[in-house]
Amino acid sequence: MSVIITLNDVYRAYRMGPERIMAVDGVSLEIEEGEICCLKGPSGSGKSTLLHLMAGLDRPSKGSIYIGKTRIDKLSENQLAVFRQRYVGFIFQSYYLIPTLTALENVALPLTFCGISKNKRIMKAKELLESVGLKDRMGHKPSQMSGGQQQRVSIARSFVNSPKVVFADEPTGNLDTATTYEMMDLMTNLAKESNQTLVIVTHDNEISGYASRIINIRDGKIEKIQNGRKMHHEKINAR
Ligand code: ADP
Repeated sequence: MSVIITLNDVYRAYRMGPERIMAVDGVSLEIEEGEICCLKGPSGSGKSTLLHLMAGLDRPSKGSIYIGKTRIDKLSENQLAVFRQRYVGFIFQSYYLIPTLTALENVALPLTFCGISKNKRIMKAKELLESVGLKDRMGHKPSQMSGGQQQRVSIARSFVNSPKVVFADEPTGNLDTATTYEMMDLMTNLAKESNQTLVIVTHDNEISGYASRIINIRDGKIEKIQNGRKMHHEKINAR
């Protein structure tokens, strides 16, 4: 198994007036290719900050972060933008779909910046939307879809550029339990096809059942690491 994400003694401080908040406080961690890692912990413990650092959406105050062999905290803003387009996918709690675009256009959008022809972009986006069960909703705008359907679109979008890692921040936070299981089945099955890695911030106990490892965070530190019931993309049957 090869390591896909490496954090070496990573810190992230925020300044709030005279106060200094250490949101991430000396975290070292290795995540292997094909893992499904959950970041768990109380609100304010630093999970989102940690996820954003790993995904190259934020930079550490101290320490180094690698995705594969690339040290991402040393990349320029432009290099980082290109790196994210090629290697990383995102799923957010509130979907962040573009309201004026159809499901198909939303999913095809990340490919616009990758030098892929329009026909190929549409083909790939259709393929992904089919695999998340939205063949009949491709022409719908986000406002014409349910929360679960919108999250399916955002899952399709996050996988469309065949990323190495998909990062998800509370992806099921706005969804009921049945839909949560559906979303997790979709994400883990898609990731399994190409041995992609999932890193998921969550409060949901249902989601932990899908994890290969659960990283418990408290006060910006790793409190403990539990092995989940699943090993890397073992046949998923979490319920
Ligand atoms: P979690 O995702 O576990 O709820 P966060 O990573 O969002 O935690 O936040 C960790 C800590 O950092 C909290 O104390 C939070 O208030 C603080 N924090 C997060 N973002 C900022 C910011 N942009 N400016 C100042 N403080 C922040």
